Amino acid sequence: MTMIEELNDLEAQAARALANIKNQSELAEWKSAHLGKQGTLTRLSKLLGTLPAEQRPLVGQKFNTARQKLEQALSESEERLKHAARMDELEAEQVDVTLPGRATAVGRLHPSTIVIRNVVETFAEMGFQVWDSPEVETDEYNYELLNFQPDHPARDMQDTFYVEMPPGSPQVVLRSHTSPGQIHAMRRYAPEPVRVLLPGKCYRMEQVTARSEMMFYQFEFLAVGRTITMGDLKGTLDGMATRLFGAGTQVRLRPSYFPFTEPSAELDISCFVCKGAGCRICKYSGWLEIGGCGMVHPIVLRNGGYDPETFSGFAGGFGPERIAILQYGIDDIRWFFSDDERFLQQFN
Ligand SMILES: [Zn+2]
Repeated sequence: MTMIEELNDLEAQAARALANIKNQSELAEWKSAHLGKQGTLTRLSKLLGTLPAEQRPLVGQKFNTARQKLEQALSESEERLKHAARMDELEAEQVDVTLPGRATAVGRLHPSTIVIRNVVETFAEMGFQVWDSPEVETDEYNYELLNFQPDHPARDMQDTFYVEMPPGSPQVVLRSHTSPGQIHAMRRYAPEPVRVLLPGKCYRMEQVTARSEMMFYQFEFLAVGRTITMGDLKGTLDGMATRLFGAGTQVRLRPSYFPFTEPSAELDISCFVCKGAGCRICKYSGWLEIGGCGMVHPIVLRNGGYDPETFSGFAGGFGPERIAILQYGIDDIRWFFSDDERFLQQFN
């Protein structure tokens, strides 16, 4: 057999072997077996030197052609395998479009959010605009400007969290009520009349129990103008009670004390469960205590930029959690911020 015949045989064998290759590792084996340094083609080419000199160029050229052809076939096989692998992948990833879709978990509103939205809507109908005020306040805004002097005993009822500040810096606190927003709103609008609703989170240095949390929501409403009387306060509360708790809901004011209003009153509504007849929710009194209110104290008006000789106003506040507790019969305020889905899923 001549070397050319041997070469043709070898080339044909290699091409047949290549056609049967199924994966990358077989391909690597084939490459080293045929084209590698110890491969069949290389081994045969080493015998070139044994040929008569005049035959060498022709046979050498045949070797080159054979090597080129096999290299070409190798790269085609690589492509073929890659393509096959990609097809397998696509086959495996196939989506069955006839399967029913996965249901998306639908979120619900938190009970505090439900009440907040109702209250905002109610006050918007009466011409109040929502005013956003910071949760982090200075002592001055949270207490002093609202007529709580540093040694005022009312501060004990509203103790909060203090931020450690460098000496000489203003005292910074988490607001204990939404009332500092009154000062911000008045200072923004004075001497124009103002009618705002201030919703937001408040903080108290409280022992956390079924009845009290260290964080809760509150609403503040404030109206300042030239002819505002306590009759306007009562009328606004009647409007609020009817819209929030239904027609026929009565409002009762009981004398009380707050540093930033004078006169001040506790705000009760007739029990919406028993319509005033007496039940477990209202502790058989027929009334539910929901907040506090009063006429803006002249000192607070002045701190807000209004002359109390010319201007007057009313303000009040209550908590959405307290209302939700009554409306939904919730037995423990700690549920509100427990992040427990079993609790949250009950409201809509
Ligand atoms: Zn009742």
